[in-house]
Amino acid sequence: MNNLAVQYLSHYGYMPSGVMSLAVDISTANMLFADAIKKFQEVAGLPMTGEWNTATFDKMLMPRCGLMDVRRSTFAEARWRKTDLTYFVEKWVGGLTPADADDLIELAWQDWMNVADFKIKPTLDRNADIIISTGSGRTDGFDGPSGTLAWAYLPNGSDGQLLCRFDLSETWLKDNPQGGILFRNVACHEFGHLLGLEHSRMSSALMAPFYSPSVVSPRASDDIPRIVAMYGKATTLPPPVRPLPAPNTVRLSKALNAGTYGDISLGSTMGAGDYVMLLTGDGNGPPPVP
Ligand SMILES: [Zn+2]
Repeated sequence: MNNLAVQYLSHYGYMPSGVMSLAVDISTANMLFADAIKKFQEVAGLPMTGEWNTATFDKMLMPRCGLMDVRRSTFAEARWRKTDLTYFVEKWVGGLTPADADDLIELAWQDWMNVADFKIKPTLDRNADIIISTGSGRTDGFDGPSGTLAWAYLPNGSDGQLLCRFDLSETWLKDNPQGGILFRNVACHEFGHLLGLEHSRMSSALMAPFYSPSVVSPRASDDIPRIVAMYGKATTLPPPVRPLPAPNTVRLSKALNAGTYGDISLGSTMGAGDYVMLLTGDGNGPPPVP
């Protein structure tokens, strides 16, 4: 039995904390450990031998989400009651420009809006439904580079404000996965939690607890049916707004950062890279695009 493994299994919910010290004899302790290892191996996509081995240890060293793997019982799969949500970016991760981070956040939300029936848009209001921020060290639930990458709260059905944090100790990347962690992949995973999804037992799913550079968005084999079961299918999107001509255009994320336009829906008509028309000084914009 390995003490680090016991700590890991307790931390992520595979066995109650301190249960090993309560085991009456070594055979009971071994049975509890083997049972927890077997559950972890299932989530990790490993053969469920219940034995402590190199493959199991290597999986425990992989970068991952900070949430527990064993599901809640009280608020199982609780979701938002309302479906028009807002988020506020309090702090940005290092290594990415705020504009790039905003774009990746928008893309990650859009990945969920493409399949499930809800809308979310950025706001400059701290009373937003969701706060996206950063943290570092033990007090924020992190452990330095690698290990825990990010975490997010799950809704409990009360529609109260939820928090999501990304570890400042990681090397966050925009696209090339070499030498760091792809921010969009982790953001999309954490946003799944913010919508109510817990960790998947399918190791290839976006909502699997382990980071994968190749899994960017919800998977049809697991994540999508789960989110559709909670919110219903995405309603048909209207045609996208046609690109508007210069000079009165500005990138949506930059407009929001600058506080020039604080109430734009990203939901049905806009995505990253879309442009919005800024109102002119007299408050009149161009006629709406049909
Ligand atoms: Zn997670």
